[in-house]
Amino acid sequence: MQSNFRKLLLTSATRASFSVMLTMASVTALAQCWQDAGLSQLTANVARQYFPGLLQSMPHVYLCSDDQIPDPRVGGIYTTGERAMRIPLRSTSQGNLTMTLAHELGHAETERRGLFDQSVQGHGVGWMRVMIEAGLGHEAQRTAAFFAGGGQAFQLAQQAVADVGRSQSPPSAGATGQRPDGSYARPTTRCVTRIEYLITDANGRRVEVQEFPGCAAK
Ligand SMILES: [Zn+2]
Repeated sequence: MQSNFRKLLLTSATRASFSVMLTMASVTALAQCWQDAGLSQLTANVARQYFPGLLQSMPHVYLCSDDQIPDPRVGGIYTTGERAMRIPLRSTSQGNLTMTLAHELGHAETERRGLFDQSVQGHGVGWMRVMIEAGLGHEAQRTAAFFAGGGQAFQLAQQAVADVGRSQSPPSAGATGQRPDGSYARPTTRCVTRIEYLITDANGRRVEVQEFPGCAAK
């Protein structure tokens, strides 16, 4: 019994290191992601603001040429296990880089807290919850609109956060930035971002417009 268990452990450890080696080999061959001191510093600043628990052991941050992450809708990629964030160059000049970094750091925090799951392409209830608790509910809500199952995960996460809030005293009312109508305020208020979503759900297809404080894409 015990020797079988050991064998199982060895097998899974071997597999894990093999897959890490494969990943490293492919990144080395392409050699188009690199470390950037300015981006690492900004990422640390964002972590300090939203996810201070990560500061003890920050994920790796790489800047990548755009062709490494060709889908223009993708602002960054986080890889669990490797604990690596990859940010395409275009994200440094388009959109809201701070919010992109906060989004990816949310994945790192989700992994750190053992809440990661594969559903909603990594944006399941655990990630949604981590984001809402950090006061980034607006980004969770924005992301939910892009993935099948995102809306449901978002609602479940809201419920989970509310349940925790109710079981604690004093309740942390307003700490997550949630408005009375259930939407989320963006924490910075310099300019206004307007986002239009095409939503397809049980109520049919419709365009939903959200406006919130924050800087628009350049
Ligand atoms: Zn994501």
